Amino acid sequence: MTRRADARSYDLDALRDRVMTERGGSVHDSIPQLADADPGLCGLALALPDGTVRTSAQADVAVSVQSAVKPFLFALALLDTGGDALHRIGIEPTGEAFDAIKLETGTGRPPNPMVNAGALLTAALVDGDDVDARTERILRGLSAFAARDLEVDEDVARSEHLLGDRNHALAHLMRAEGTLRVGADDAVAVYARACAVLVDARTLAVMGATLACGGRNPVSGEQVVPTEVARDVVSVMATCGVYDGSGRWMRAVGVPAKSSVSGGIVLSVPGVLGGAVISPPLDEQGTSVRGRIACEALSAELDVHVFGARAR
Ligand code: GLN
Repeated sequence: MTRRADARSYDLDALRDRVMTERGGSVHDSIPQLADADPGLCGLALALPDGTVRTSAQADVAVSVQSAVKPFLFALALLDTGGDALHRIGIEPTGEAFDAIKLETGTGRPPNPMVNAGALLTAALVDGDDVDARTERILRGLSAFAARDLEVDEDVARSEHLLGDRNHALAHLMRAEGTLRVGADDAVAVYARACAVLVDARTLAVMGATLACGGRNPVSGEQVVPTEVARDVVSVMATCGVYDGSGRWMRAVGVPAKSSVSGGIVLSVPGVLGGAVISPPLDEQGTSVRGRIACEALSAELDVHVFGARAR
């Protein structure tokens, strides 16, 4: 079956020009560094299974990864626990905001790894005896997904740690339920640093492509996580990646994705491509406004809606 437009020759700058006319949404203001984000930033990238990476203007402008790190934390937790993370955390969509103070009824587990409760736990499940060792493990793992050395913006990490009251609350609640086995403050510290890792659209697209390519990074050739881990992660991105907007996202865009409050969206179309948009103004659910429009256009024009079979 031929696709409507070829990702190899798709004009990302023309798409960028189209979405730049959109002025809606507002930047997240939970920490000063996010409140200071440039609302005019918009970078797009696509990464293909043969290692080709295509980019628009501003695809090299870095922001903190924020919640777009969650699929990769889940992957690393699955890898480091030999799959045990799947028993420690739910995989059902919540229909609630990303920072809802709520655990699974009956089990006290986080509802899924794409909301804050879940990511606080996955960040605590990676190998390492203390905050520094776990942060280092996460940085190495994320760098393998990215095919380049990533770093933490320590100012962002400090703000996240200091001002993340809901994350502290969630960590304490999980301690009380017995589901979090490291110290609550340590769990928030590691998660805050994971959210503060700097990425640009090019990097996020390669990370998404690694999940889309069965865990093998198409740029470096490294098998970063086993194929089954990549499949599990992309499945949960599909059902939970856009929080309480996941159902609408799946109908309209039809591509497993993870949104973040820095305006990033990472896409994984299994076997086909990874993609990313970074543009800070957000809608009510915390999804980039231009990112959503760009992803809808990409899905339609590249014909990659995973449920969008043509009539035959
Ligand atoms: N660091 C943010 C938080 O913990 C990430 C949230 C997000 O990107 N949706 O609230």
